[in-house]
Amino acid sequence: MIARSNRERVLQISRWLADKFPTPFPVTVRCPKKIAAIPGSGPLETKIGDYGTIIQHGHKIIINIAIRPGRSRSMIVDALLHEWAHAATIRHANLEKNRLNHDDEWALMYGKIYRSFMDDGGCKESEDY
Ligand SMILES: [Zn+2]
Repeated sequence: MIARSNRERVLQISRWLADKFPTPFPVTVRCPKKIAAIPGSGPLETKIGDYGTIIQHGHKIIINIAIRPGRSRSMIVDALLHEWAHAATIRHANLEKNRLNHDDEWALMYGKIYRSFMDDGGCKESEDY
């Protein structure tokens, strides 16, 4: 099914990602208009832009992808792939330190996700999720 809204598309790709790139901790994807901190949780990485963020809530991971009118779908999708690469490579040690970075492990996972989505049919395949 072709996603009509950016929010639908983000949730659709999230289901595809969960299937293809499982995460060690459960991930919830939310699509707020603006990214705001949730009480009792901390950001896991320094905010670079205001497109996406990943936060920890106990052993649950929450990815926020900001959806606003006029925002390009490709930037939104890229933010999701970026944050998902964090979620897929997160380890207990990172959770304890309460921070993530763009290390080799993250970069390798981001590359795998990106190629799978952009070059190996994931973009199309995810439309069935
Ligand atoms: Zn990041």
